[in-house]
Amino acid sequence: MMPKVLCHWYVTTRCNSRCQTCSIWSDDRYKCEESSIESRLDLLKQLKAMGFLSIDFTGGEPLLYPGLPSLILAARKMGIMTFLTTNSLLYPKYARALQGNVSALSFSLDSPHPKINDKIRGIPHFKKAIRAMKLATTLGEVPMIKTTVCRENVNDLKVFAELARRIGVLIEFNAEFAYFGNPAFDNAGIQKILKIKNHPNVIISKPHLQFMLDGGNNPCRPKCHIGHNMIVLAPDNQLYYPCMHLVQDKIPLRNGSIKETLEQMKKDRLVEKIGNFPFCNRCTIPCYMESSYYTGIDKYFVPCFGGRLDYVKKRVRLSLINRLEK
Ligand code: SF4
Ligand code: SF4
Repeated sequence: MMPKVLCHWYVTTRCNSRCQTCSIWSDDRYKCEESSIESRLDLLKQLKAMGFLSIDFTGGEPLLYPGLPSLILAARKMGIMTFLTTNSLLYPKYARALQGNVSALSFSLDSPHPKINDKIRGIPHFKKAIRAMKLATTLGEVPMIKTTVCRENVNDLKVFAELARRIGVLIEFNAEFAYFGNPAFDNAGIQKILKIKNHPNVIISKPHLQFMLDGGNNPCRPKCHIGHNMIVLAPDNQLYYPCMHLVQDKIPLRNGSIKETLEQMKKDRLVEKIGNFPFCNRCTIPCYMESSYYTGIDKYFVPCFGGRLDYVKKRVRLSLINRLEK
């Protein structure tokens, strides 16, 4: 049996940003009720009992869900790794409640140039993001910028990496993927991302970029492991099926139980279809693929662990530098 690596938990689909590269804020399919903090704390206990190692609290803008800090704190107390990516706008309000409880705290930013960034984000954002990251470093966090590299910013990677160095944060470069009519990033662009991997502040996912160069998910041998080592929870405590980005349906929890629901989905042969749908062909959505690189011995397995080691080394180094500079 595969270890349960990751739960992608969409705590809200609301967002206070208006990014050109995202449809969640404009697409009615994603509108839904948000369940109570009490019911989510119960789901958290279930995830722990099922052996989930990590939770990615995501959205929308996850900090728009007011119960998030207590959910994250509860997860940490259970020994579950917590990931959070915020667009920064609400971070100052919750920074102290989150302090020390997020294993990997990330801030989205799309360009080192304020005007370009704010155009992609659709709101005045750049200055607030920089302020939020500076606040995070003063609270002892080791924040990371998360950037989707696209045609608009691919020639600014060095400038971007230097901005990260100046403000004392890591920066992760992900290549744009196709999902709402936008084309996936081209191979020349991916090579540009690979070239900057040795910068001390830059994090990349070598296995995922290789996976993109290899053409993405092959429905005959799916790399997408949703339902096996990963699940995707919606804000109303249902499961997105098969994933959030290409959602076809939402599956209510049988008797409120994630485990029972997954078992039933397996019996109904719903899980085996994931990664096999026509739209799964060549899929490169990173958040659903990353955990698969740890759980299969293939060409992505070794670079995956190499990448984790690189991340840990760069993070420890940065944390020491930030402490010395305080
Ligand atoms: S901040 Fe995130 S969820 Fe919100 S519109 Fe931008 S990419 Fe989408
Ligand atoms: S392969 Fe891609 S589109 Fe298909 S279920 Fe997985 S993440 Fe969704």
